[in-house]
Amino acid sequence: MLWSLAMDAISQITPEVEQRVQDLRKLLWQASYDYYVLDAPTIEDAVYDQLYRELVDLETRHPELIAPDSPTQRVGERPASQFVSVKHNIPLYSLENAFGNEDLAKWQERWQRQLLASDRPPVDTIDYVCELKIDGNALALTYENGILTRGVTRGDGIAGEAITQNVRAIRSIPLRLNLDNPPPVVEVRGEAFLPLASFEQINQEREQAGEALFANPRNAAAGTLRQLDSKIVARRKLDFFAYTLHFGSGNLSLESGESNPTPHSPLPTPHSQWHCLELLRQMGFRVNPERRQCAHLQDVQEYCDRWSIDRTQLPYMTDGVVVKINSLALQAQLGFTQKFPRWAIALKYPAEEAPTIVERISVNVGRTGAVTPLAEMRPVQLAGTTVARATLHNSDRIAELDIRAGDTVIVRKAGEIIPEVVRVLYDLRPDGTATYHMPTHCPECGQRLVKPDDEAVTRCINASCPAILRGALVHWASRQALDINGLGEKLVLQFVETGLVESVADLYDITLDRLLLLERMGKKSAEKLVQAIADSKQQPWARVLYGLGIRHVGNVNAQILTERFSTVESLAVAAVETIATVFGIGSEIAQSVYDWFQNPANQSLIQRLQATGLQFQADRETQPTALNPSLVGKTFVVTGTLPTLKRDDAKAMIQSAGGKVTDSVSKKTDYLVVGEDAGSKLEKAQVLGITQLSEAELLELLAES
Ligand code: NAD
Repeated sequence: MLWSLAMDAISQITPEVEQRVQDLRKLLWQASYDYYVLDAPTIEDAVYDQLYRELVDLETRHPELIAPDSPTQRVGERPASQFVSVKHNIPLYSLENAFGNEDLAKWQERWQRQLLASDRPPVDTIDYVCELKIDGNALALTYENGILTRGVTRGDGIAGEAITQNVRAIRSIPLRLNLDNPPPVVEVRGEAFLPLASFEQINQEREQAGEALFANPRNAAAGTLRQLDSKIVARRKLDFFAYTLHFGSGNLSLESGESNPTPHSPLPTPHSQWHCLELLRQMGFRVNPERRQCAHLQDVQEYCDRWSIDRTQLPYMTDGVVVKINSLALQAQLGFTQKFPRWAIALKYPAEEAPTIVERISVNVGRTGAVTPLAEMRPVQLAGTTVARATLHNSDRIAELDIRAGDTVIVRKAGEIIPEVVRVLYDLRPDGTATYHMPTHCPECGQRLVKPDDEAVTRCINASCPAILRGALVHWASRQALDINGLGEKLVLQFVETGLVESVADLYDITLDRLLLLERMGKKSAEKLVQAIADSKQQPWARVLYGLGIRHVGNVNAQILTERFSTVESLAVAAVETIATVFGIGSEIAQSVYDWFQNPANQSLIQRLQATGLQFQADRETQPTALNPSLVGKTFVVTGTLPTLKRDDAKAMIQSAGGKVTDSVSKKTDYLVVGEDAGSKLEKAQVLGITQLSEAELLELLAES
């Protein structure tokens, strides 16, 4: 996908494509070996999946390049082991991967087309079974006349290792089926896995014994299943969820329709996957309780969305959702490709890490003058968004990574964190790349950059650098600061480039006539902007202080400081020690505030801004709020649209009463303040049983003294 995008227009094989195919194969083979044989993966699953997709894509475009030893031609890996290798009666196939709705819809189209083309088009409505994709190891269990006689790992899908003794040590695997009159042979397949609690305990023990830690529960489970001493297996508390049932023509009889398994009664032949799961449960297996029957692809999507969030609450690891066509007759009709069943697909959770290619390295000059290097990359999907730039932090980090234009890198975007480059896949580095050096001069104003020895950050210290000015203006106009609607990055760029604005204070001298001289500026927008700038003069002192962009003074600190210093004059003359006595303000913040007010340029900025009529003192209504004992030490999350309050205002009110506000719901959240159209945060809070408050209830709580 990555490289091939660039190769779209080229149908013949270039040496670069050939080299890339070879490099990918080498890397994927090594990764598979580390993963399957050594149980010690060296790259993340999501990264493996995407590089694998890229290889499939290249091989599809250039079938001449397909080689029998390509990882795309094989399922899994046969581990080198002391156990006897056994051929599976029915191969254990892999699952096709889907990475989002689009892939899922394409899968549906594919099998629908196949059914329509067949002699026996389906008549029944088609429904699906969604199951969690347990991140463990597949096992094939054979029961002869109801007795467990063989337990085999998946291996390469054709043959696995007989580990029957170890399988017997897994307590949730019945040694005898709960069947009155079992058929001669039943094969049950499912996933052996280590619950998270057992995994943590094993790693703790290994750490104490000075042994290498397992990378994840899946590897720990694989390592455990291959223990020669089955007592170790028993001690490690492996668990098992069954999901596939195969049996021959023998008389299968067991109780049906009862909630508890009870032997001694006949049972009909299963007709659907859902039915199989129920039978497995009645036969005495653990079947995952989160399974769901879905009538439409949309329900499937809802199920996947829910579990991409709620999976963190499960006591075991899952790496996606397996979607299966429910009808066994349809499954038989659709059959298998060389590697996958056509009737099932694994929808992987949105990746938080993915590989991509660095096109170039650039730098960004921020409003504080900090020069941040950025990797500009081929766009990649991460945690549900498209990412094309990632921070490289500073020159130390660049040197540590030795990152270069042309490199394949792994980028991460977890939760709401800014995307960053985690590491470079040096094995995929093309020839002719060059080491990157930070610029010595500011790309914006041309002045020499400085890097103090005790700091990692390189800075532009030219106060009139256009990049610093642009950053300061965008920050001043931002929602949490002066909230000047309509003044975004593009307009700020125009203001600075045309010389209309050379300081934040110049905003307040802008007239309608001058605005109308700007390119692409309509009368209505200009009028609205002039009004928005005028309205910003009513914003409270705390927002003005925040808008000044003093280092370390975020909106919460600005609120705290303005409660203690109700006028700009009182703050401007305060000593560092006085500022540092304010609850919640540390000495670093105090020093930064003090230094800012000592700077003559800043002093004259304040004078000019004061002359415009902006608020530099606390209004009576926003006078210090007393800390509220019901809120102190409590953590709040605010979500959805509140009936009257802006979300930021609600947050500020909570904070000034002593509460803490965070962005994501976790076990540590005490209250979720919920407005209309609340999404996943509400769902998560419901799962965790967190107290919910309406706006009215919040105001009531705030009113308590
Ligand atoms: P897979 O793991 O994507 O899917 C097939 C497997 O899913 C089955 O064998 C079974 O074990 C499991 N499964 C769990 N719950 C299931 C359920 N309810 N129903 C059916 N099956 C269920 O395919 P694969 O071929 O085993 O492995 C390929 C995957 O392994 C890759 O997608 C990659 O993520 C990972 N891998 C990672 C590396 C690495 O270096 N990190 C290397 C090789 C493979």
